[in-house]
Amino acid sequence: MDVDIISSNSDRRPCGAGCGPVAEGGRYELRSLRSSRTGRSSSPRRRVRRRLDVDWDQVDCTKDQYTGPIVLSHLAGTGENANPGHEALLADNYEEEVEDLVAQFEVIRALPCLNLLVDKWRVPVLPMMMRRQAGRKTLVLDLDETLVHSWINEERRHDLMFRVSILHPDDTAIFVRKRPHLVHFLKHVCEWFEVVVFTASQRIYADRLLSMLDPEKKYFKHRLFRDSCVEVDGVYVKDLSLLGRDLSNVVIVDNLVQAFGFQLDNGVPIASFYEDDQDSELLKLLSFLHKLIWVPDVRPFMVDKFRLRQIVYGMSPVL
Ligand SMILES: [Mg+2]
Repeated sequence: MDVDIISSNSDRRPCGAGCGPVAEGGRYELRSLRSSRTGRSSSPRRRVRRRLDVDWDQVDCTKDQYTGPIVLSHLAGTGENANPGHEALLADNYEEEVEDLVAQFEVIRALPCLNLLVDKWRVPVLPMMMRRQAGRKTLVLDLDETLVHSWINEERRHDLMFRVSILHPDDTAIFVRKRPHLVHFLKHVCEWFEVVVFTASQRIYADRLLSMLDPEKKYFKHRLFRDSCVEVDGVYVKDLSLLGRDLSNVVIVDNLVQAFGFQLDNGVPIASFYEDDQDSELLKLLSFLHKLIWVPDVRPFMVDKFRLRQIVYGMSPVL
């Protein structure tokens, strides 16, 4: 079987690990658990700056509107300052979201030392960065519940549909909703970063979907699937050191904090997307990511912004 099918309960909380089509109260959901030609020298910084000639209509980079998942900023005790009135925005299922986050924190705290799991001499999964991209940072994007929400075998409002072979040829229909502002987001970030999709989903599903999202291969420079994850007790963790990039230049955006548990300081948490037409997280995220283009090391910036290490390892949650 190429894609997990998990008969699960009917809640919509992100699961703890892995991913694949998941039964949801009789419905099935796909979700993640889991020198120029003129001869003049051109600095990487200048190259990047020159490529920023894009449509800025919807991007206000003068203010950082991105706060990450409300439940996370609330746990960190930063929500009030970061997002006045956030209490009113807390979801009805707040307690469930907290429970899920706490479970993820436990997974992260229990992760063994990475050196015990991977060969430090392993070959990086990504090729050398192309010369015209030199100087760019690498933006790693999760797929399910970060860029899209997918489910199987139940036709309701969707943006994309395709079939994959699980037990029989083309026996499973996959329905996909794109997160609002997805194309706008991708058009910008692919100008600013080397964009890599790193999903814990199976290749048979994700590769097909990515080809539909990016048929001309303009947005995603590289695609990484479940087989590139480190599996720890059934949890698929994305080890960024596998990429072969300087980690001071790597940012990962994922709806599951545990997915980047080995490199918390590189992670941008994002609220899970299911079907909210009013979702604007990708739009807000653009202004935040734009700030990262120029910083010498993304990690101090992220630590200050999200305090993930403090939340996961040190703090007493504000429950
Ligand atoms: Mg995900």
